[in-house]
Amino acid sequence: MARRQTVGAATRAEVIERWGNRCWLGLPGCTGAGEEDDHIVPWSHRGRDSVQNLRRACKRCNASRQDRVLSGYGAVMHAVIGPPSADLYGAVEPLIGRDAVTVVHADFMHALRPEVPEEEQTAAVRSAAATAWDAAYRRLSREREPVDVWLFRALPVSHAHPHMLDEWIALDYDIHVVDPGAASVFDAVAGDPAAEAVARRWYGLHVTQQIVDARLAERHRRLVELGLRTQATAAARYTW
Ligand SMILES: [Zn+2]
Repeated sequence: MARRQTVGAATRAEVIERWGNRCWLGLPGCTGAGEEDDHIVPWSHRGRDSVQNLRRACKRCNASRQDRVLSGYGAVMHAVIGPPSADLYGAVEPLIGRDAVTVVHADFMHALRPEVPEEEQTAAVRSAAATAWDAAYRRLSREREPVDVWLFRALPVSHAHPHMLDEWIALDYDIHVVDPGAASVFDAVAGDPAAEAVARRWYGLHVTQQIVDARLAERHRRLVELGLRTQATAAARYTW
């Protein structure tokens, strides 16, 4: 990706003075060092070279962010995760606005092969749907309009993003964990080897809403320090 380096020395010095010279992103593999100027609203979205819009980032984070927005600076990003058989959509349905965009793996499978029930889809269809899911995520995670995007998937990992959950937390996504409990999940997926394998991987990740909320709260404190969130939104955010 073409990158512009037009930030003046005085602006950079003020950014470091106000927001510090530690990497603001903290994505997986972050070195912590303030090596580059990162635009909060990406310059491809017409973000300005202003002290308000610039923070320091390490090279790895700046490259791996790839213009994905900090949730709310453009798209408002929601993610709903849970093991197979969990009713991900049902758990958040009242929160999903009419104009929201929903990204659901099963919907892509259905679009490709509508007559076949989910558990009978072939490996090729599952894989094509996963590729479509990734492409939709890549595009929507960069959206400059304030649209609500709801991502639904079982595991918060993908081939392209092995640390997807960490990335979502760094970019302050609204994350919902829907877990009906291992006993009922393994009961529901018995006889479906693909779903059983996903369920085993899910429980190997040890993801709970409590753990995610604690990490988001910590991230939020850092974003407040960086001038990117206010205390008020922090309070409003955790009332649900
Ligand atoms: Zn970093």
